[in-house]
Amino acid sequence: MTGDPNSPLRVLIVDDDPAVARFLKVALSNLGLRDVTTAENGAEALEVDVGPASGIGLIVSDLQMPKLDGIAYLRHLKTLGYQGAVLLMSGADSRLLKAVEGLATSLDLRVLGVLAKPIRQADLVDALRKLGPGTGGPRLPAGVDVSVDELRVALQAGDLDVWFQPQADARSRRILGAEALARWRHREKGFIPPSTFIPMAEENGLIDALADQVLVKAMTAAKEWRSGGFDLKASMNLSFRNLSRLDLPEWIEKQAVGFGLPLDGLVLEVTESSVVTHLSATLEVLMRLRLKGVGLSIDDFGTGYATLDYLKQIPFTELKIDRGFVNAAPNDRTARTILESSIFLAHRLGMTTVAEGVETKAEWDLVVELGGDAIQGYALSRPVPEDQFLPWLQAFGTSAPSS
Ligand code: C2E
Ligand code: CA
Ligand code: CA
Repeated sequence: MTGDPNSPLRVLIVDDDPAVARFLKVALSNLGLRDVTTAENGAEALEVDVGPASGIGLIVSDLQMPKLDGIAYLRHLKTLGYQGAVLLMSGADSRLLKAVEGLATSLDLRVLGVLAKPIRQADLVDALRKLGPGTGGPRLPAGVDVSVDELRVALQAGDLDVWFQPQADARSRRILGAEALARWRHREKGFIPPSTFIPMAEENGLIDALADQVLVKAMTAAKEWRSGGFDLKASMNLSFRNLSRLDLPEWIEKQAVGFGLPLDGLVLEVTESSVVTHLSATLEVLMRLRLKGVGLSIDDFGTGYATLDYLKQIPFTELKIDRGFVNAAPNDRTARTILESSIFLAHRLGMTTVAEGVETKAEWDLVVELGGDAIQGYALSRPVPEDQFLPWLQAFGTSAPSS
Protein backbone atom coordinates (compact mmCIF):
# COMPACT_ATOMS: atom_id res chain seq x y z
CA MET A 1 0.00 0.00 0.00
CA THR A 2 1.12 3.52 -0.63
CA GLY A 3 1.93 6.44 1.62
CA ASP A 4 3.49 6.92 5.01
CA PRO A 5 2.56 3.92 7.12
CA ASN A 6 2.09 6.18 10.11
CA SER A 7 -0.44 8.52 8.55
CA PRO A 8 -3.95 7.04 8.46
CA LEU A 9 -5.15 6.15 5.02
CA ARG A 10 -7.95 8.04 3.31
CA VAL A 11 -11.22 6.26 2.71
CA LEU A 12 -13.79 6.65 -0.04
CA ILE A 13 -17.35 5.51 0.72
CA VAL A 14 -19.62 4.91 -2.26
CA ASP A 15 -23.26 4.41 -1.29
CA ASP A 16 -26.53 6.03 -2.29
CA ASP A 17 -28.02 5.52 1.15
CA PRO A 18 -27.03 8.45 3.41
CA ALA A 19 -27.82 6.43 6.54
CA VAL A 20 -25.27 3.75 5.57
CA ALA A 21 -22.67 6.37 4.70
CA ARG A 22 -23.26 8.04 8.08
CA PHE A 23 -22.95 4.76 9.99
CA LEU A 24 -19.70 3.93 8.19
CA LYS A 25 -18.24 7.37 8.82
CA VAL A 26 -18.85 7.05 12.54
CA ALA A 27 -17.58 3.47 12.69
CA LEU A 28 -14.43 4.31 10.71
CA SER A 29 -13.81 7.41 12.76
CA ASN A 30 -13.93 5.33 15.95
CA LEU A 31 -11.15 3.25 14.44
CA GLY A 32 -9.04 6.32 13.77
CA LEU A 33 -9.91 6.68 10.08
CA ARG A 34 -11.25 10.22 9.93
CA ASP A 35 -10.29 11.28 6.43
CA VAL A 36 -13.38 10.03 4.62
CA THR A 37 -14.80 11.14 1.29
CA THR A 38 -18.28 10.04 0.21
CA ALA A 39 -19.86 9.61 -3.21
CA GLU A 40 -23.52 8.77 -3.80
CA ASN A 41 -23.05 6.40 -6.72
CA GLY A 42 -20.46 4.90 -9.00
CA ALA A 43 -20.69 7.74 -11.50
CA GLU A 44 -19.96 10.31 -8.81
CA ALA A 45 -17.19 8.11 -7.39
CA LEU A 46 -15.47 8.10 -10.77
CA GLU A 47 -14.80 11.79 -10.32
CA VAL A 48 -12.80 11.14 -7.17
CA ASP A 49 -9.08 10.77 -7.79
CA VAL A 50 -8.01 7.41 -6.38
CA GLY A 51 -4.48 7.39 -7.81
CA PRO A 52 -1.47 6.52 -5.64
CA ALA A 53 -0.87 10.20 -4.82
CA SER A 54 -4.41 10.66 -3.49
CA GLY A 55 -3.68 8.68 -0.33
CA ILE A 56 -6.92 6.72 -0.74
CA GLY A 57 -6.15 3.23 0.44
CA LEU A 58 -9.62 1.90 1.06
CA ILE A 59 -12.83 2.10 -0.94
CA VAL A 60 -16.02 0.88 0.72
CA SER A 61 -18.61 0.48 -2.01
CA ASP A 62 -22.20 -0.60 -2.26
CA LEU A 63 -23.01 -3.03 -5.07
CA GLN A 64 -26.52 -1.92 -5.93
CA MET A 65 -26.53 1.73 -6.89
CA PRO A 66 -28.29 3.90 -9.45
CA LYS A 67 -26.38 5.27 -12.49
CA LEU A 68 -23.28 3.08 -12.24
CA ASP A 69 -23.48 -0.05 -10.10
CA GLY A 70 -20.73 -1.37 -7.89
CA ILE A 71 -19.57 -4.03 -10.32
CA ALA A 72 -19.17 -1.53 -13.15
CA TYR A 73 -17.32 0.72 -10.72
CA LEU A 74 -14.93 -2.13 -9.83
CA ARG A 75 -14.05 -2.55 -13.50
CA HIS A 76 -13.29 1.14 -13.71
CA LEU A 77 -11.11 0.96 -10.62
CA LYS A 78 -9.12 -1.76 -12.30
CA THR A 79 -8.64 0.39 -15.43
CA LEU A 80 -7.68 3.37 -13.29
CA GLY A 81 -4.91 1.27 -11.75
CA TYR A 82 -6.26 1.64 -8.23
CA GLN A 83 -3.81 0.01 -5.81
CA GLY A 84 -5.67 0.10 -2.52
CA ALA A 85 -8.14 -2.22 -0.88
CA VAL A 86 -11.83 -2.61 -1.62
CA LEU A 87 -14.60 -3.55 0.78
CA LEU A 88 -17.99 -4.31 -0.74
CA MET A 89 -21.45 -4.08 0.79
CA SER A 90 -24.71 -5.50 -0.36
CA GLY A 91 -28.18 -6.48 0.66
CA ALA A 92 -28.18 -9.32 -1.90
CA ASP A 93 -28.20 -13.00 -0.96
CA SER A 94 -25.07 -14.77 0.18
CA ARG A 95 -24.57 -16.66 -3.06
CA LEU A 96 -24.45 -13.47 -5.08
CA LEU A 97 -22.12 -11.90 -2.53
CA LYS A 98 -19.69 -14.79 -2.90
CA ALA A 99 -19.85 -14.58 -6.67
CA VAL A 100 -19.12 -10.88 -6.62
CA GLU A 101 -16.24 -11.36 -4.24
CA GLY A 102 -14.79 -13.88 -6.67
CA LEU A 103 -15.33 -11.52 -9.58
CA ALA A 104 -13.55 -8.69 -7.82
CA THR A 105 -10.65 -10.97 -6.91
CA SER A 106 -10.39 -12.13 -10.50
CA LEU A 107 -10.07 -8.48 -11.52
CA ASP A 108 -6.96 -8.56 -9.33
CA LEU A 109 -8.32 -5.98 -6.92
CA ARG A 110 -7.46 -6.40 -3.28
CA VAL A 111 -10.85 -7.32 -1.86
CA LEU A 112 -11.22 -7.41 1.91
CA GLY A 113 -14.63 -9.04 1.65
CA VAL A 114 -18.30 -8.43 1.09
CA LEU A 115 -20.35 -7.15 4.02
CA ALA A 116 -24.00 -8.12 4.17
CA LYS A 117 -26.36 -5.26 4.99
CA PRO A 118 -27.32 -4.24 7.59
CA ILE A 119 -23.65 -3.92 8.44
CA ARG A 120 -22.44 -4.92 11.84
CA GLN A 121 -19.51 -3.15 13.47
CA ALA A 122 -17.87 -6.51 14.28
CA ASP A 123 -17.95 -7.60 10.62
CA LEU A 124 -16.47 -4.28 9.58
CA VAL A 125 -13.64 -4.65 12.09
CA ASP A 126 -12.99 -8.23 10.95
CA ALA A 127 -12.77 -7.14 7.33
CA LEU A 128 -10.48 -4.22 8.14
CA ARG A 129 -8.09 -6.51 9.99
CA LYS A 130 -7.09 -7.79 6.58
CA LEU A 131 -5.57 -4.41 5.81
CA GLY A 132 -2.80 -5.48 8.14
CA PRO A 133 -0.75 -3.24 10.36
CA GLY A 134 1.74 -0.71 9.02
CA THR A 135 -0.58 0.26 6.19
CA GLY A 136 -1.98 3.38 7.78
CA GLY A 137 -4.99 1.24 8.47
CA PRO A 138 -7.32 1.48 11.44
CA ARG A 139 -6.44 0.98 15.07
CA LEU A 140 -8.13 -2.29 15.74
CA PRO A 141 -8.92 -3.74 19.12
CA ALA A 142 -5.84 -4.80 21.07
CA GLY A 143 -4.04 -8.02 20.29
CA VAL A 144 -3.82 -7.81 16.53
CA ASP A 145 -1.58 -4.79 16.19
CA VAL A 146 1.50 -6.63 15.04
CA SER A 147 4.26 -5.61 12.68
CA VAL A 148 5.98 -7.41 9.86
CA ASP A 149 9.17 -7.40 11.92
CA GLU A 150 7.40 -9.22 14.73
CA LEU A 151 6.22 -11.82 12.24
CA ARG A 152 9.73 -12.17 10.86
CA VAL A 153 11.13 -12.67 14.35
CA ALA A 154 8.39 -15.15 15.21
CA LEU A 155 9.21 -17.18 12.10
CA GLN A 156 12.89 -17.19 12.98
CA ALA A 157 12.21 -18.10 16.60
CA GLY A 158 9.87 -20.92 15.63
CA ASP A 159 6.91 -19.28 17.41
CA LEU A 160 4.56 -20.41 14.69
CA ASP A 161 2.65 -23.56 15.49
CA VAL A 162 0.56 -25.87 13.47
CA TRP A 163 -2.78 -27.15 14.72
CA PHE A 164 -4.58 -30.04 13.09
CA GLN A 165 -8.23 -30.43 12.24
CA PRO A 166 -9.33 -33.98 11.41
CA GLN A 167 -11.30 -35.03 8.36
CA ALA A 168 -13.55 -38.07 8.50
CA ASP A 169 -15.27 -40.31 6.03
CA ALA A 170 -18.77 -38.84 6.00
CA ARG A 171 -20.49 -42.22 6.36
CA SER A 172 -18.22 -44.42 8.44
CA ARG A 173 -16.67 -41.56 10.46
CA ARG A 174 -13.27 -43.15 9.98
CA ILE A 175 -10.55 -40.50 10.25
CA LEU A 176 -8.90 -40.04 6.85
CA GLY A 177 -6.53 -37.17 7.45
CA ALA A 178 -6.04 -33.77 8.98
CA GLU A 179 -5.53 -30.24 7.76
CA ALA A 180 -2.58 -28.28 9.13
CA LEU A 181 -3.58 -24.76 10.16
CA ALA A 182 -0.97 -22.17 11.06
CA ARG A 183 -1.23 -20.62 14.52
CA TRP A 184 0.80 -17.74 15.87
CA ARG A 185 0.87 -17.27 19.59
CA HIS A 186 2.53 -13.92 20.17
CA ARG A 187 4.60 -13.85 23.37
CA GLU A 188 2.78 -10.77 24.69
CA LYS A 189 -0.25 -10.29 22.48
CA GLY A 190 -1.72 -13.77 22.46
CA PHE A 191 -3.15 -15.49 19.41
CA ILE A 192 -2.92 -13.56 16.17
CA PRO A 193 -5.49 -14.83 13.64
CA PRO A 194 -4.31 -16.27 10.30
CA SER A 195 -6.46 -13.65 8.56
CA THR A 196 -3.98 -11.11 9.93
CA PHE A 197 -0.63 -12.81 9.48
CA ILE A 198 -1.13 -14.82 6.29
CA PRO A 199 -1.77 -11.74 4.10
CA MET A 200 1.11 -10.04 5.92
CA ALA A 201 3.43 -12.93 5.11
CA GLU A 202 2.22 -12.93 1.50
CA GLU A 203 2.83 -9.24 1.03
CA ASN A 204 6.21 -9.11 2.70
CA GLY A 205 8.06 -12.02 1.16
CA LEU A 206 7.65 -14.30 4.19
CA ILE A 207 5.10 -16.76 2.83
CA ASP A 208 7.68 -19.24 1.55
CA ALA A 209 9.39 -19.39 4.95
CA LEU A 210 5.98 -19.88 6.55
CA ALA A 211 4.98 -22.67 4.16
CA ASP A 212 8.33 -24.40 4.73
CA GLN A 213 7.74 -24.45 8.47
CA VAL A 214 4.17 -25.66 8.13
CA LEU A 215 5.30 -28.44 5.79
CA VAL A 216 8.03 -29.61 8.14
CA LYS A 217 5.65 -29.57 11.12
CA ALA A 218 2.96 -31.38 9.16
CA MET A 219 5.42 -34.08 8.10
CA THR A 220 6.81 -34.41 11.61
CA ALA A 221 3.27 -34.93 12.86
CA ALA A 222 2.31 -37.32 10.06
CA LYS A 223 5.29 -39.48 10.92
CA GLU A 224 4.28 -39.54 14.56
CA TRP A 225 0.70 -40.54 13.66
CA ARG A 226 2.08 -43.39 11.59
CA SER A 227 4.19 -44.61 14.48
CA GLY A 228 1.02 -44.51 16.55
CA GLY A 229 -0.72 -46.72 14.01
CA PHE A 230 -2.68 -44.03 12.13
CA ASP A 231 -1.94 -43.83 8.44
CA LEU A 232 -3.48 -40.43 7.67
CA LYS A 233 -3.15 -37.87 4.93
CA ALA A 234 -1.80 -34.49 5.91
CA SER A 235 -3.24 -31.46 4.14
CA MET A 236 -1.73 -28.02 4.15
CA ASN A 237 -2.65 -24.67 2.65
CA LEU A 238 -0.55 -22.98 0.02
CA SER A 239 -0.78 -19.40 -1.10
CA PHE A 240 -0.63 -18.83 -4.85
CA ARG A 241 2.63 -17.03 -4.14
CA ASN A 242 4.16 -20.30 -2.91
CA LEU A 243 3.34 -21.75 -6.31
CA SER A 244 5.46 -19.24 -8.17
CA ARG A 245 8.51 -20.85 -6.59
CA LEU A 246 9.69 -23.16 -9.33
CA ASP A 247 11.69 -25.46 -7.07
CA LEU A 248 8.72 -26.12 -4.78
CA PRO A 249 8.04 -29.66 -6.10
CA GLU A 250 11.66 -30.69 -5.57
CA TRP A 251 11.76 -29.12 -2.13
CA ILE A 252 8.65 -30.96 -1.06
CA GLU A 253 9.94 -34.23 -2.48
CA LYS A 254 13.22 -33.81 -0.63
CA GLN A 255 11.38 -33.26 2.66
CA ALA A 256 9.14 -36.28 2.10
CA VAL A 257 12.13 -38.48 1.35
CA GLY A 258 13.87 -37.16 4.45
CA PHE A 259 10.87 -38.04 6.60
CA GLY A 260 10.31 -41.35 4.84
CA LEU A 261 6.76 -40.36 3.91
CA PRO A 262 5.02 -41.14 0.61
CA LEU A 263 4.17 -38.06 -1.47
CA ASP A 264 0.62 -39.27 -1.97
CA GLY A 265 0.08 -38.84 1.75
CA LEU A 266 0.34 -35.09 1.29
CA VAL A 267 -2.50 -32.89 0.02
CA LEU A 268 -1.89 -29.29 -0.95
CA GLU A 269 -4.87 -26.96 -0.76
CA VAL A 270 -5.07 -23.91 -2.99
CA THR A 271 -8.07 -21.61 -3.01
CA GLU A 272 -10.22 -21.65 -6.08
CA SER A 273 -10.05 -17.88 -6.51
CA SER A 274 -6.25 -17.84 -6.47
CA VAL A 275 -6.04 -20.64 -9.02
CA VAL A 276 -8.50 -18.92 -11.33
CA THR A 277 -6.74 -15.58 -11.02
CA HIS A 278 -3.20 -16.88 -11.42
CA LEU A 279 -3.72 -19.95 -13.56
CA SER A 280 -0.82 -19.46 -15.95
CA ALA A 281 1.66 -18.66 -13.19
CA THR A 282 0.69 -21.65 -11.05
CA LEU A 283 -0.05 -24.27 -13.67
CA GLU A 284 3.47 -25.60 -14.10
CA VAL A 285 4.21 -26.09 -10.41
CA LEU A 286 0.80 -27.67 -9.79
CA MET A 287 1.29 -30.09 -12.67
CA ARG A 288 4.74 -31.10 -11.50
CA LEU A 289 3.51 -31.64 -7.95
CA ARG A 290 0.71 -33.82 -9.25
CA LEU A 291 3.12 -35.83 -11.39
CA LYS A 292 5.08 -36.59 -8.24
CA GLY A 293 1.91 -37.99 -6.68
CA VAL A 294 1.04 -35.11 -4.34
CA GLY A 295 -2.71 -34.63 -3.88
CA LEU A 296 -4.13 -31.28 -4.99
CA SER A 297 -7.22 -29.83 -3.44
CA ILE A 298 -9.36 -26.88 -4.52
CA ASP A 299 -10.11 -24.95 -1.35
CA ASP A 300 -13.21 -22.80 -0.79
CA PHE A 301 -14.84 -24.32 -3.87
CA GLY A 302 -17.86 -22.40 -5.07
CA THR A 303 -16.49 -18.99 -4.18
CA GLY A 304 -14.37 -18.48 -7.28
CA TYR A 305 -15.96 -16.55 -10.03
CA ALA A 306 -15.76 -17.35 -13.73
CA THR A 307 -15.58 -20.62 -15.52
CA LEU A 308 -14.53 -24.04 -14.37
CA ASP A 309 -12.10 -24.28 -17.28
CA TYR A 310 -9.18 -24.63 -14.93
CA LEU A 311 -10.52 -28.05 -13.91
CA LYS A 312 -9.63 -29.31 -17.38
CA GLN A 313 -6.09 -28.02 -17.07
CA ILE A 314 -5.08 -29.12 -13.59
CA PRO A 315 -5.74 -32.65 -12.36
CA PHE A 316 -7.05 -31.80 -8.91
CA THR A 317 -7.74 -34.80 -6.73
CA GLU A 318 -10.03 -33.21 -4.16
CA LEU A 319 -12.65 -30.52 -3.98
CA LYS A 320 -13.33 -28.75 -0.69
CA ILE A 321 -16.76 -27.25 -0.68
CA ASP A 322 -16.84 -23.87 0.97
CA ARG A 323 -18.44 -23.81 4.38
CA GLY A 324 -20.82 -21.04 3.31
CA PHE A 325 -22.74 -23.57 1.18
CA VAL A 326 -22.44 -26.36 3.72
CA ASN A 327 -23.86 -24.23 6.55
CA ALA A 328 -26.69 -22.85 4.46
CA ALA A 329 -27.64 -26.08 2.66
CA PRO A 330 -30.12 -27.52 5.20
CA ASN A 331 -32.31 -24.41 4.98
CA ASP A 332 -31.57 -22.90 1.59
CA ARG A 333 -32.50 -24.54 -1.71
CA THR A 334 -29.83 -22.78 -3.74
CA ALA A 335 -27.05 -23.68 -1.33
CA ARG A 336 -28.27 -27.27 -1.27
CA THR A 337 -28.27 -27.40 -5.06
CA ILE A 338 -24.73 -26.04 -5.19
CA LEU A 339 -23.58 -28.57 -2.61
CA GLU A 340 -25.21 -31.41 -4.54
CA SER A 341 -23.86 -30.27 -7.93
CA SER A 342 -20.37 -29.77 -6.53
CA ILE A 343 -20.35 -33.36 -5.29
CA PHE A 344 -21.69 -34.58 -8.64
CA LEU A 345 -19.13 -32.54 -10.58
CA ALA A 346 -16.25 -33.75 -8.42
CA HIS A 347 -17.22 -37.39 -8.86
CA ARG A 348 -17.64 -36.99 -12.61
CA LEU A 349 -14.13 -35.58 -12.77
CA GLY A 350 -12.67 -38.31 -10.57
CA MET A 351 -12.19 -36.12 -7.49
CA THR A 352 -13.26 -36.74 -3.93
CA THR A 353 -15.10 -34.10 -1.89
CA VAL A 354 -14.58 -32.65 1.54
CA ALA A 355 -17.44 -30.60 2.95
CA GLU A 356 -15.80 -28.01 5.18
CA GLY A 357 -17.15 -26.22 8.21
CA VAL A 358 -19.69 -28.91 9.10
CA GLU A 359 -21.06 -27.67 12.40
CA THR A 360 -24.37 -29.46 12.93
CA LYS A 361 -25.83 -32.93 12.63
CA ALA A 362 -28.25 -31.62 9.99
CA GLU A 363 -25.34 -30.47 7.81
CA TRP A 364 -23.50 -33.75 8.29
CA ASP A 365 -26.58 -35.84 7.47
CA LEU A 366 -27.22 -33.81 4.36
CA VAL A 367 -23.65 -34.32 3.12
CA VAL A 368 -24.16 -38.08 3.56
CA GLU A 369 -27.52 -37.94 1.79
CA LEU A 370 -26.03 -36.03 -1.15
CA GLY A 371 -23.17 -38.51 -1.50
CA GLY A 372 -20.30 -36.38 -0.19
CA ASP A 373 -17.15 -38.31 0.67
CA ALA A 374 -15.57 -36.57 3.66
CA ILE A 375 -16.40 -33.92 6.19
CA GLN A 376 -14.36 -31.52 8.27
CA GLY A 377 -15.69 -29.10 10.87
CA TYR A 378 -16.57 -28.39 14.45
CA ALA A 379 -19.14 -31.20 14.43
CA LEU A 380 -16.20 -33.60 14.30
CA SER A 381 -13.55 -31.52 16.04
CA ARG A 382 -12.14 -28.04 16.24
CA PRO A 383 -8.47 -27.66 15.24
CA VAL A 384 -6.27 -29.30 17.89
CA PRO A 385 -2.70 -28.36 18.95
CA GLU A 386 -0.12 -30.67 17.40
CA ASP A 387 0.85 -32.42 20.65
CA GLN A 388 -2.81 -33.20 21.42
CA PHE A 389 -3.74 -34.61 18.06
CA LEU A 390 -2.47 -38.16 18.52
CA PRO A 391 -4.24 -38.45 21.91
CA TRP A 392 -7.38 -37.10 20.21
CA LEU A 393 -7.07 -39.80 17.53
CA GLN A 394 -6.65 -42.51 20.13
CA ALA A 395 -9.65 -41.33 22.12
CA PHE A 396 -11.79 -40.92 19.01
CA GLY A 397 -10.80 -44.33 17.71
CA THR A 398 -12.41 -45.97 20.70
CA SER A 399 -15.44 -43.69 20.86
CA ALA A 400 -16.46 -43.55 17.22
CA PRO A 401 -19.87 -45.08 16.63
CA SER A 402 -19.81 -47.62 13.85
CA SER A 403 -22.91 -46.25 12.10
P1 C2E B 1 -9.24 -22.51 5.30
O1 C2E B 1 -8.11 -23.16 4.57
O2 C2E B 1 -10.55 -22.47 4.61
O3 C2E B 1 -9.32 -23.23 6.70
C1 C2E B 1 -10.50 -23.53 7.35
C2 C2E B 1 -10.82 -22.51 8.40
O4 C2E B 1 -12.12 -22.77 8.91
C3 C2E B 1 -9.89 -22.58 9.61
O5 C2E B 1 -9.76 -21.25 10.11
C4 C2E B 1 -10.69 -23.44 10.58
O6 C2E B 1 -10.32 -23.21 11.94
C5 C2E B 1 -12.08 -22.96 10.31
N1 C2E B 1 -13.10 -23.96 10.62
C6 C2E B 1 -12.99 -25.30 10.57
N2 C2E B 1 -14.14 -25.91 10.87
C7 C2E B 1 -15.05 -24.93 11.11
C8 C2E B 1 -16.43 -24.93 11.46
O7 C2E B 1 -17.08 -25.96 11.64
N3 C2E B 1 -17.02 -23.71 11.59
C9 C2E B 1 -16.34 -22.54 11.43
N4 C2E B 1 -16.99 -21.39 11.57
N5 C2E B 1 -15.02 -22.51 11.07
C10 C2E B 1 -14.39 -23.70 10.92
P2 C2E B 1 -8.33 -20.64 10.46
O8 C2E B 1 -7.45 -21.66 11.08
O9 C2E B 1 -8.59 -19.36 11.20
O10 C2E B 1 -7.71 -20.32 9.05
C11 C2E B 1 -8.24 -19.32 8.23
C12 C2E B 1 -7.60 -19.35 6.88
O11 C2E B 1 -6.22 -18.98 6.98
C13 C2E B 1 -7.59 -20.74 6.25
O12 C2E B 1 -8.84 -20.98 5.68
C14 C2E B 1 -6.48 -20.58 5.24
O13 C2E B 1 -6.96 -19.93 4.08
C15 C2E B 1 -5.52 -19.64 5.95
N6 C2E B 1 -4.40 -20.43 6.51
C16 C2E B 1 -4.32 -21.11 7.69
N7 C2E B 1 -3.12 -21.71 7.81
C17 C2E B 1 -2.43 -21.41 6.67
C18 C2E B 1 -1.12 -21.74 6.17
O14 C2E B 1 -0.33 -22.47 6.79
N8 C2E B 1 -0.78 -21.23 4.94
C19 C2E B 1 -1.63 -20.46 4.21
N9 C2E B 1 -1.21 -19.98 3.01
N10 C2E B 1 -2.86 -20.14 4.63
C20 C2E B 1 -3.26 -20.62 5.85
CA1 CA C 1 -7.79 -25.04 3.66
CA1 CA D 1 -11.52 -23.53 3.05
